[in-house]
Order: sequence, then C-alpha cells, then structure tokens
Amino acid sequence: MKKPGKMLMEVLRHAPKKPATEMYPHVRPYVPERFRGRLDFIPGKCIGCKMCMRDCPSKAITINKIGDKKFEAVIDLDRCIYCGQCVDSCPKDALLMTTDFELAQLDRRKLKIVLKDAGNATDAKPEAEPEKPVA
Ligand code: SF4
Ligand code: SF4
Repeated sequence: MKKPGKMLMEVLRHAPKKPATEMYPHVRPYVPERFRGRLDFIPGKCIGCKMCMRDCPSKAITINKIGDKKFEAVIDLDRCIYCGQCVDSCPKDALLMTTDFELAQLDRRKLKIVLKDAGNATDAKPEAEPEKPVA
C-alpha cells in the first residue's frame, strides 16, 4: 500500500455517512407509480382483438379464447421486455403494468403465467406445475 495515510483519511471521511447500499430485501425500495413491472390483465374488458399480440416485439403475450366472449392472457415473463407496447395498443384498456418487479424464479416454467379470472396480480398462476425433484 503506497499511501495508507490517504486511505485512512478517506475511511474517516466516509465513516459518519449513511451507507449508499440498499437494504433490500429487508427494506422494500420505493417503486415509482409508473414503473413498468409485471403485466396485469382485466379479462372483463378484453374483446379478443389480439392487437396486443400483433404489436408485442418479443411475442411474449398470447390471448386465448376460453369461452363465449371470455379470454385469458398467457404471458411469458422471461420473454417480455416490459416495454408497455401491448398496454398502449389495447383499445379496451384490458392490460396494465404493475409495480411488481420481484419476478425471479428457479423454475423457468413458472415465468409463464396465465391471467384469466379476476385479472389482478394475486391471480397470476404458473402455466405448468414445477418439476418434481428426482428422489
Ligand atoms: S410489455 Fe412489451 S414485451 Fe411485454 S408483453 Fe407487452 S408488448 Fe410484449
Ligand atoms: S389488445 Fe386488449 S382487447 Fe385486444 S386482445 Fe389484447 S388485451 Fe384483449
């Protein structure tokens, strides 16, 4: 170490300051209202026009008809680039972006979610069951 005195001065200068690091996940960070997080779907508004599918640049959203004037949205969270184009393209405001950013999964199949019932974040279900560990 060439200049220990200089280093010590630097340490003393920063010692009384608050840490710059975030305490996440113990303390949730502030998420701006217009943050582009996981998509949400309001099935009651969807008319099945598939404009969202047509305009999605990464082919991350699929709309399926599941009954008479009933539709579900299948979203590949690992393909989505969270650009918001589908939200802009939807003529019925059936899609919106939430502030949910905690999307990491150990099983990739859990990143494919189906939204079809009440259409809110808590109804997001993985399309496939997670793989069972081999005994
Ligand atoms: S946010 Fe963008 S990438 Fe994601 S589904 Fe919508 S259009 Fe596709
Ligand atoms: S653009 Fe909107 S209304 Fe049309 S299929 Fe997609 S979610 Fe439904």
